[in-house]
Amino acid sequence: MKLTIIGSGYVGLTTGACLAEVGHHVMCVDNDARKIETLLAGKIPIYEPGLENMVRKNVVSKRLQFTTSTEEGVNFGEVIFIAVPTPPQPDGSVDLSFIEKVAREIAVCLDSYRVIVDKSTVPVKTGERVAHTIRRYAKAGVEFDVVSNPEFLREGSAVDDLMNPDRIVIGGNSDRALALMQKVYEPFVAPVLVTDINSAELIKHAANSFLALKISYINAVSEICEVSGADVEKVAEGIGMDKRIGRSFLNAGLGYGGSCFPKDIAAFIAIAEQLGTPFTLLKEVQNINTHQFTRFLDAVREALWVLKEKKIAVWGLSFKPNTDDVRSSVAVNIVEALVAEGADVTAYDPKAMEKFKDLPVSAKVKLAESPLEAARGAEALIIATEWADFASVDLAELRNIMRAPLIFDGRNLLDPTAAQAYGFQYRGIGRGTLP
Ligand code: NAD
Repeated sequence: MKLTIIGSGYVGLTTGACLAEVGHHVMCVDNDARKIETLLAGKIPIYEPGLENMVRKNVVSKRLQFTTSTEEGVNFGEVIFIAVPTPPQPDGSVDLSFIEKVAREIAVCLDSYRVIVDKSTVPVKTGERVAHTIRRYAKAGVEFDVVSNPEFLREGSAVDDLMNPDRIVIGGNSDRALALMQKVYEPFVAPVLVTDINSAELIKHAANSFLALKISYINAVSEICEVSGADVEKVAEGIGMDKRIGRSFLNAGLGYGGSCFPKDIAAFIAIAEQLGTPFTLLKEVQNINTHQFTRFLDAVREALWVLKEKKIAVWGLSFKPNTDDVRSSVAVNIVEALVAEGADVTAYDPKAMEKFKDLPVSAKVKLAESPLEAARGAEALIIATEWADFASVDLAELRNIMRAPLIFDGRNLLDPTAAQAYGFQYRGIGRGTLP
């Protein structure tokens, strides 16, 4: 099939590459000319494991192409996916201006039947709005259908998630459009759930909010573990062995961050509010998330007494491992808080340092070539992202090069007993405090 993706970021580019990989002919559109130039030059603008090779291979086989022209994209694909940003507004509600703009742009280019698929994460009822907008701006009589097809990929394993999804959700009201969507996803071995548009849209916000709820739940438990002397890792293991609950998303830590969870939870709260059915449980999920971050920083302050001029190493800048994405990263928030209090921060991240350099706070932060370099002469080390590399650092060498032996492990990555055996004062999350 000939498919078009409008918006070639983390979701659009990865989706485009995977759809090409299974045999479709895909045109990826983006209005960021620099991004398209980079892609046409054979480079990819983001780090995502396996993506670069997949893009290269499908460009060579001419199944994947790039353009800045929406018109070219609309003429090309029989199915047109929208994968543009849906950022939060200050009140938490979703800024839908990117979606609305793309809907107008598609509408004016429509000449014959197309399926317009919303892959961006949008509030329930957005599909109806998109359909009205396209109808208003399109030539009289031109046929089209709007479908919701929310995306569940996780950055860091996006290629694998798209190639082997848990489920594919397709929300639509037209048999013609649904038949075409089934054909798009025929090459994938995954259960397909067909719903109406509103339900599909709601599934995405409800799913992300539930995952955030699990994170906040275990983080709240982690605080109880700290004051009672229990070990949250064991508690999570014990809870997670119950198949009704499951172990995933029960990792106590610094709280959720990234480009999706904070905005999607805020959005779901705002959507519920607008519909007149306030979702107070999710407000508590947010409160716990903020509290977890504050508690961690308080522990750092408590141990170091004064942060001003203290040399602090931070391992990790991306919002999670295996990605270079620093959007709404808790690790970056930690760095910002330390810098604001006058600490002398040296950071290291295996993949995210380039993207970090675009943030204002980077001007006040030194970047190191390796985890050990970052820790040289440091009076404390903060582990802010659970990159696997950090778990295998030689603790004896780390102890030798640090000025003071303090580790704040915000992701419970290290073994506390091993760290203590090497002479470190170790503080994890929900598993004991500094001696
Ligand atoms: P992104 O910022 O990485 O990519 C969006 C792209 O759209 C950018 O390259 C931008 O230049 C382009 N764009 C904006 N307006 C455009 C226009 N009018 N025409 C053409 N291109 C345009 O964003 P993302 O992370 O890929 O997220 C996209 C959507 O997918 C959001 O709604 C997000 O919530 C959702 N989502 C993201 C993830 C994730 O892990 N990143 C997972 C699931 C769903």
